Amino acid sequence: MSPSIPGQPHRYRPEEVEALRAKYRLERDRRIRPEGTGQYRRAAGEFGHFATDPYTERAERAPATDVVEAVVIGGGFGGLLAGARLRQAGLRTIRTIDEAGDFGGTWYWNRYPGVHCDVESTVYMPLLEEVGYVPKWRYAPGEEIRQHAVAIAKQFDLYADALFHTRVTELRWDDDAAEWQVTTDRGDAFRTRYVVISSGTLSQPKLPGIPGIETFRGHTFHTSRWDYGYTGEDLGRLADKKVGVVGTGASGIQVIPEVGGAAQHLYVFQRTPSTVDVRDNRPIDPAWAETLKPGWQRERMENFLTIVTGDHADEDLIDDGWTSTARLQRNMLTGTLDPTISAEEREYLDDLADFRKMDEIRARVDQVVEDPATAELLKPWYRYMCKRPGFSDVYLPTFNRPNVTLVDTADTGGITRMTETGVVVGEQEYEVDCVIFATGFEVGVSGVISGTLPVYGRGGTTLLDHWGSGPRTLHGVYSHGFPNLFHLGSLQNAASVNFVHVLQEQATHIGAVVAEARRRDARRIEPTAEAEQRWVDTIRETAPENYTFRAECTPGYYNGEGKPRPVNQSFGPGPTVFHDLLRRWRAEGGPDEVLANG
Ligand code: NAP
Repeated sequence: MSPSIPGQPHRYRPEEVEALRAKYRLERDRRIRPEGTGQYRRAAGEFGHFATDPYTERAERAPATDVVEAVVIGGGFGGLLAGARLRQAGLRTIRTIDEAGDFGGTWYWNRYPGVHCDVESTVYMPLLEEVGYVPKWRYAPGEEIRQHAVAIAKQFDLYADALFHTRVTELRWDDDAAEWQVTTDRGDAFRTRYVVISSGTLSQPKLPGIPGIETFRGHTFHTSRWDYGYTGEDLGRLADKKVGVVGTGASGIQVIPEVGGAAQHLYVFQRTPSTVDVRDNRPIDPAWAETLKPGWQRERMENFLTIVTGDHADEDLIDDGWTSTARLQRNMLTGTLDPTISAEEREYLDDLADFRKMDEIRARVDQVVEDPATAELLKPWYRYMCKRPGFSDVYLPTFNRPNVTLVDTADTGGITRMTETGVVVGEQEYEVDCVIFATGFEVGVSGVISGTLPVYGRGGTTLLDHWGSGPRTLHGVYSHGFPNLFHLGSLQNAASVNFVHVLQEQATHIGAVVAEARRRDARRIEPTAEAEQRWVDTIRETAPENYTFRAECTPGYYNGEGKPRPVNQSFGPGPTVFHDLLRRWRAEGGPDEVLANG
């Protein structure tokens, strides 16, 4: 076998390949913790203040006791897209419910300085043409994205019936009325024909279980609840503060340059370095925007999805760090395989492509970071998609600042403990005034799936009882015995790095099925038991075989902190095939198996 990848001169000798694999295993083993996901604490109870809303005051209101046509749980892009499509399907009363104080989802919560989208905004920000907006930046800042979410809500008149700072506590199906009874933590008890659940995948902030965390007397907050009262809007109040940032994931690499530029001193507590590839953010040229023809966003979104899925496209309209690494994304995200080569050869080529990319990323650290010891610590030793890839042109130079210190915590499995005045790693204490946790989120399943939001379907059966040992849906959208209840998110469907695209297709599908139900005067939308079983079988037969890949990865939320679930629940052929399948199902009489008038 003589692997060669065009434009990539280095050929790895077998001993180099083995040495890299051994290094990856070693680095992974340094970081693996026996507690797995149990090492984290929920931002609840004693730590509940880490999750409270710093942006909008909670307003008192009377409980809702009315009847609406649809309830959408979650006001992020998924919920907004569902709201928009249901409005277009002709629904008049659509009630979005969110624990946040406004629309925006992740962009409501994540307002930390430096926050930007990491997928190009022309394909990430949904409904641009429908709202009549062209983003100002190639990778838009969070506030621009949040404002766009608000614009979508206004355009589709979703504020009228929305309830914020509200959590749904129970959903119960009334078969006689063919309606859902909805109750919430604000005393609401109302009815609705349809329920869409779009409560996000990474929304509940988590904290590391650091011994003594509660004893620290300085200031603390999580990146997704930024305390601008403490830092000042321009971070000016950090000028006389020693600050610690814990975490160097996607949030960490965006926020650290900002804090490094503002604090008297910044200690960055790192356990695993992120990959930090070229960002090349720049303003979008208004003259280019003028040339865009109707349908431009769909064309870009489809082109991006096709390429990152590993399928062929004649041209690359986005041409960035995502579209150039499709081969590396395949193992983690889709099961799309090149059938013209053997499995062995494919594995070898995958390894080579991965080593080359990672060597490039490690070489960039050496080029940018002046202190060789710091540079060494900033080099990631794992396969590219073991963690969400990072992009930044300002992160690595931050470590050349005299007021920034990198503290590596890999050997101690993270921070050792916290005291009243600081952070301890091994034997060394770092005194700080403030600790900012960029430590991520609980891996998101909706409350419906985790069981915190009980759902009682026909005959009082709970959804989790119906599912038994695993999800049972048709197309990841609905389940037998739970009429007019739709799921949005990653459930028995196909994923992409541009998750909003996936949500958009789901919302369009739900909107189309609801429109068809209204046309036929059907009161219930619910898959037959046979249709549901067919899809469960399809998922079982096609789910990507990537357990070994995930298990060998450095720990993180992608692989259950080093203990991945053996069973994969995604549609292996990937999102482009899945979206096409949904379109064909709708066009070829599919609705007949989910619509009932009784
Ligand atoms: P994350 O990727 O889960 O990162 C958490 C960080 O905290 C990791 O660096 C982790 O180290 C560190 N950590 C955890 N426990 C620790 C301990 N005890 N001691 C020291 N360090 C500890 O969270 P995130 O950065 O918020 O990103 C989450 C996801 O949100 C991303 O993957 C992405 O999908 C999304 N996101 C997107 C954007 C964007 O689009 N621009 C921005 C932010 C977030 P280990 O790696 O060693 O566990």
